[in-house]
Amino acid sequence: MPFGQNAGYARTFSEPEAYSKNHLKKTIDMKTMTCKQLGGACDMPFHATTFEEIAEQSKKHGMQMFKAGDKEHLEAMNKTQELMRTPNAMAKWFENKKKEFENLPDNKL
Ligand SMILES: [Zn+2]
Repeated sequence: MPFGQNAGYARTFSEPEAYSKNHLKKTIDMKTMTCKQLGGACDMPFHATTFEEIAEQSKKHGMQMFKAGDKEHLEAMNKTQELMRTPNAMAKWFENKKKEFENLPDNKL
């Protein structure tokens, strides 16, 4: 509990410190994976604290590339769609990538 019952009182004094601590923690806990590592086609890096977050970022990026008609990303997406035809293949892929993500070292400042 960062803010107790004296929150209003404490906040006046400790907010800048609390902010920088949270910010620091966030930066340290983040991990990086590239579009390619996540089944895409480029070296665009994504940063997140959980695999679900990074998967979401990569998905959004993939959609943008799809709309832009980027050939390499379209090919990468075709491969993913082929994978999805095999039962459980996508779940396994997700599971493997999640492990890969969790084994990554946290970002260094
Ligand atoms: Zn990409």
